[in-house]
Parts: sequence; structure tokens; C-alpha cells
Amino acid sequence: MKKVGVLTIQGDCIEHLEALQKAAGQNFTIVSAKTPDEIAVLDGLIVPGGESTTIGKLAKMYGVDKAIKKRTQEGMAVWGTCAGAILIAKNLVGAETADNWNLMNITVERNAYGRQLDSFETNLQVNLDGQTLVPAVFIRAPKIVKIGPGVKILAQHEDEIVMAQEGNLLVTTFHPELTDDILIHSYFLSLINES
Ligand code: GLN
Repeated sequence: MKKVGVLTIQGDCIEHLEALQKAAGQNFTIVSAKTPDEIAVLDGLIVPGGESTTIGKLAKMYGVDKAIKKRTQEGMAVWGTCAGAILIAKNLVGAETADNWNLMNITVERNAYGRQLDSFETNLQVNLDGQTLVPAVFIRAPKIVKIGPGVKILAQHEDEIVMAQEGNLLVTTFHPELTDDILIHSYFLSLINES
């Protein structure tokens, strides 16, 4: 059975594990992963929201970043939510940096909504085989300021790209794990089934 992990270094890991479990039913094994050995056996990985500096630093310290890069080259699907989106981005711009992993061809700016708007909730039209409305929570979210060729936009909020996909790499700048809607978790699992 295919194995899907949540990177449990820091952040909203439990919420992702619960949502994944709900979406997976009996079809996938869901595990938490925070060592290179645990990453090495995964078919899919969620990098949760949290603090990208902390997750990035610890991942580097324990060699987890290298394990993620290697496994991704071998075909592991990765979904980064919020801080996770920052970490899987190829490029970061702006004053705030993090030890990102250069996986997905997007450019991201941390904390780009500024103080007033740094947290908000809304409903988003998400384009997954037809348009669906999902609830979306943004918490000190980054902005995806540029996408490379081959990156598909799956959702926008006002003029900002908030969900995108490149092959089996997925990013959302919002937090589906903090709502009851498991549509995006199910979509991520469908990417793993295809690979
Ligand atoms: N502001 C955080 C960062 O830059 C991300 C916030 C989140 O994941 N909710 O790392």
C-alpha cells in the first residue's frame, strides 16, 4: 500500500494527519515522518504550515532536506501548505528568507500580505476537474509572486495565485487542514495514485 507522510518537525501536523486519514480511508498508509529514513520510504509528503525558518533549519540540521530532494527526484509527490509552500519553492524574494529546497518552479515572498491582512478566511473557487468552492484560511500567508513554465494555477484570491501545481508538486498558501473540507487532501492523494 502506498505510504503518505506528514513532515512532523514543526507546525500544524496533527490536523494534516487527521484530514489525510479521513481522505485516505483504507487506501493509503498515513504516517508521520521526520527522519531521512522515514522520508526515504514515502510516496507522498505534506509539508505543513508553521514557521518556515524553523522547519527549514531543523530539516537541514538532520539531513531531512536532502532526503526530501532525493525522494522527490525519484517521484515522491509533495504538497506544501503555507510555510511548506515557502520551503518547496525554487526562489524566495523579499526581506525574509528561509532554507528553501528548490523543488517547485515558483517564486514566493514570505509574509507578503502585511500586518492588516496577515490572517483572513474566505471561500475560494478551486479548479480541479471543474470549479469547486472550498473554505480557505490564510495565516500570515506568503504570496506566490511568479510561476515558471509548466506550473498550473489551480486557485486565485483577488489577483494572487494561492494554489498551484507542477507535476506531482502542489502548493497552497492557505490551510485546508484547518477546515472540515477534505477535497484538497483527496486531490493530493489522487496525484500519488497516478504516479
Ligand atoms: N509566516 C510563516 C512563514 O513565513 C508561514 C505561516 C503559516 O505557515 N501559516 O514561515
